[in-house]
Amino acid sequence: MRAFATRAVHGANTTPHAHGSLRPPLFDSAAFEFSSARDLELAFAGQKPAHSYSRITNPTVEELERRIALLANAFAVIGVSSGMAAITNVAMALSQSGMNIVTTRFLFGHTRSLFETTLARFGISIRLTDFSDPSTIESVIDEQTAFVFLETITNPQLEVADITAISSIAARRNVPVILDGTLTTPYLFDAKAAGVAVEVLSSTKYISGGATTIGGLVVDYGTFDWGRTSLLTDTFRKAGPGALALRLRREIYRNTGSCLAPHNAWLQLLGIETLPLRIEKSCENALSIARFLEQHPAVNSVNYPGLATSPFHGIARRQFGNRFGGILTFDLGTRERSFALIDALQLIRRATNVNDNKTLIIHPASTIFGEFSPEERTAMRIPDGQIRLSLGIEDAADIMEDLSQGLERL
Ligand code: PLP
Repeated sequence: MRAFATRAVHGANTTPHAHGSLRPPLFDSAAFEFSSARDLELAFAGQKPAHSYSRITNPTVEELERRIALLANAFAVIGVSSGMAAITNVAMALSQSGMNIVTTRFLFGHTRSLFETTLARFGISIRLTDFSDPSTIESVIDEQTAFVFLETITNPQLEVADITAISSIAARRNVPVILDGTLTTPYLFDAKAAGVAVEVLSSTKYISGGATTIGGLVVDYGTFDWGRTSLLTDTFRKAGPGALALRLRREIYRNTGSCLAPHNAWLQLLGIETLPLRIEKSCENALSIARFLEQHPAVNSVNYPGLATSPFHGIARRQFGNRFGGILTFDLGTRERSFALIDALQLIRRATNVNDNKTLIIHPASTIFGEFSPEERTAMRIPDGQIRLSLGIEDAADIMEDLSQGLERL
């Protein structure tokens, strides 16, 4: 197989598109027409592969799905409307009232809110444990556990768990591992080799190539025997290893209207071509800025898996090939000092989102985690003095200069 960067640029082959176009076409159409009623019937029954309606399938979205499957060495990929839609779709396909999700205290705020608030209303509960110690997981898994869920690098605590160890515990108990690999993508982490069943990705981040669009991906690695999950046994009889993909395509994804807009898919196809370059540069910038902030007298502490001071430095180095992601956090002690720095910046953008081409800054406690109580935030390790910085691909010296002038004013 060709190297990741080559696959990212060319896809599976170098056959030109219509008219010799080097860019794949954009099929920005809601519906597709058929030459006969019988053909329409077969398409609806899934007996003849054809696109009928873009809420169900679309050729441009399908091209993105094929490209991601090739990059990730996946069995099936489904493009969806956002990273949150990817998580929601998988959760709805694998769980029902009375079941539980085993996960960590450290999750992206909206994922925690989805599990704890939205899914709770449908009778699905969460069991929180400490994923930095995989041995704590086995005792909370039971017959009603739908899946184990974690992030490659938790956002924004930047905790890195031993994913292979967690996968083998879950496999012993016949439970699939669902991994949110948004902050690493298949470029930094081979989730299939680690035994992950499904990776969910917010393609809004690194994959979109500059924060052009919102999107999400469900990546089924074909490593989990869906015949062993009670909710998919019937679908498994029909579709074998394609059971999850079939359940999503012909039920959850279709019925919830989670489709990815074709134009978004098209922009994300362009983004993929530069994915390795952008990840390398943002990781390099994050390490330089983490080292700079670590030395700065106005900064209380810096949290970045690339620093030797991080308890996750060793495991991150092993899992992600000596790259540590594009996000760091640092502590200025109080909310007032955090706001003052953020307001003083002249280059770095005050915005949510991560893994943009631009360096972005945010105060997590008052924004993404604003819906949680101070006690809950403390338990989630979101202190009032914490700032999250997502490094873009600018020159590191300019980012440093902006932070310096801002910190000097505190
Ligand atoms: N997962 C992680 C780790 C994220 O950081 C985010 C968004 O910031 C999401 C999921 C949700 O992605 P989206 O905004 O595309 O729904």
